[in-house]
Amino acid sequence: MKPLLELTVIMHHYVRDRGDMAEAGSGIPGMSVGDFEVQLDELSHQHTFVAWPAVRAALQGNRPLPNSACLLTFDDGIRDHYLNVFKILHERSLSGLFFVLARDETDGLIPAHKIHFLLASLGLAGLRQAIWEKLNPAQREQFTQAEKRYRLKYPPVSSEGRINLLKAVLQRDLSPEVDTLLLDLFEEHVGPESETARNYYLNLEQIQEMAAGGMHFGGHSHSHPWFDWIDSGNRTAEISASAAWLRQIEPGPWAFAYPYGGFSKDAPQLLKAHGFVAAFTTKAQLYHSNPYFIGRLDGEELAHEGLGYA
Ligand SMILES: [Zn+2]
Repeated sequence: MKPLLELTVIMHHYVRDRGDMAEAGSGIPGMSVGDFEVQLDELSHQHTFVAWPAVRAALQGNRPLPNSACLLTFDDGIRDHYLNVFKILHERSLSGLFFVLARDETDGLIPAHKIHFLLASLGLAGLRQAIWEKLNPAQREQFTQAEKRYRLKYPPVSSEGRINLLKAVLQRDLSPEVDTLLLDLFEEHVGPESETARNYYLNLEQIQEMAAGGMHFGGHSHSHPWFDWIDSGNRTAEISASAAWLRQIEPGPWAFAYPYGGFSKDAPQLLKAHGFVAAFTTKAQLYHSNPYFIGRLDGEELAHEGLGYA
């Protein structure tokens, strides 16, 4: 089948230097600002950067993309994107597509970010132990069963594997209980959570400045759940929250990025009904036959492996 779209999409999360304002004392590493600039240089030799409206026009059949088109995307609406990324893209007259959570300033950190901060402060074994102590017997049983199940997908043979295993248990099976539990641990070991969240995510003013500077925004849900774990009613609520949030930023139709790249069969239809014409995953692919399943390459991995992916 002829692919609908040939497009290299790069996905970024953290772009920060140790000790800078984006890192915010969290100790959570990311791609350094220098490495990010080097990557942009390298990409610019092989690709023509395009902005979201060009991709949208191609998807709608209005105008084809240039050869070797490349779209830069950034997930989770973290402050790195204003402090470090926006300035660099703006200087180079480039645009990025930023997938921001539909949250307001009173919402705290999403569980994934609470876990990152706690891992940085307690280490993996310390966090696992601290969580275990707060679970009741029924939850401990659920934890043990889930851990057994995810061991195949996330083999605990490296520290990354062990972290992903713990994250899967917490962000899927224990997701209803885990929010308060992580909040307690956060306040105990890291500090006031609402204040951290206020400094960790983009605020509306920064987003508006970025939009005025040629950046584009897409949806990434409200609470960052695994779409294959929650039910259809919750998926609808998460998507409609994103549409409502985006309406105040830029006119649609918009793009969406699935939290964790998690996919569910009804998501394309729900997204379409809420004004989204494209959705991005974390699957590494350069040819895309479904506008609601556009693959992306992880920018941080590329930086380690080089650009020899073609
Ligand atoms: Zn995300």
